[in-house]
Amino acid sequence: ADKDFLLAIDGVRATYKHAITALHGVSLTVGHGEIVALLGANGAGKTTTLKGISNLLPAERGQITAGSIKFDGSDVSAISPADLVRSGLVQVLEGRHCFRSLTVEENLITGGIGRSAKRAEIADDLENIYAYFPRLKEKRRTLSGLTSGGEQQMTAIGRALMSRPRLLVLDEPSMGLAPLIVQDIFKTLRRLNRETGLAILVAEQNSTVALKYADRATILENGVAVLSGAADELRDNEDIKNFYLGQK
Ligand code: ATP
Repeated sequence: ADKDFLLAIDGVRATYKHAITALHGVSLTVGHGEIVALLGANGAGKTTTLKGISNLLPAERGQITAGSIKFDGSDVSAISPADLVRSGLVQVLEGRHCFRSLTVEENLITGGIGRSAKRAEIADDLENIYAYFPRLKEKRRTLSGLTSGGEQQMTAIGRALMSRPRLLVLDEPSMGLAPLIVQDIFKTLRRLNRETGLAILVAEQNSTVALKYADRATILENGVAVLSGAADELRDNEDIKNFYLGQK
């Protein structure tokens, strides 16, 4: 049943104020230890889906009008965004959102605040994150505002990891970054997934890179989940590339 999936989205409709319907019945699942990509063009409804997952739609004057979203078997609409983080559902929002006037390490430490981590735990978690992101160790004393876009994205991911997620949700981590940095970030996400069992849901317009690293994917078009399948099958299907993903 629902417990078989870490995340189960079933038939979700979502509207914003003024009756703009952003999602018209979206279903998708993330299993334990899986990487799932949510693909689609600008405005397809990826961010709305992710906000729904973290129960952040009310803050945007939006609401889910049908269907359900369950994390680890519990309906997220009954749980505050902060409690969802504490229960292991952690999101890296679009646009990175580092504290520019804090150092990289201070930014990371803010990620441990929600679970009232002890000093020794924080030190351990920092070392662990630096092992996955050596760049962050090099830059740990640098103000985040002075680091590159790629380093800021890594910092935002590292900060999310400080909350010890079971499901990490990322909104367009590739946005505005050079292709090599994007590959580097996705490789690190896959290493984290394979080595720690961390489940990942990643929304991306860059379907090429997302399908390279994901296990499964769902394609959203105008608020409808039009296609779901194994990432390698979607990757190799020319029609899908042409019709839905707009790849060259
Ligand atoms: P992006 O690549 O821009 O993140 P997306 O696939 O994430 O695109 P959404 O941001 O979820 O798409 O937008 C889906 C639809 O909902 C769009 O028509 C958008 O205009 C609308 N929408 C998004 N946020 C709001 C809001 N706060 N109020 C009203 N309408 C919104």
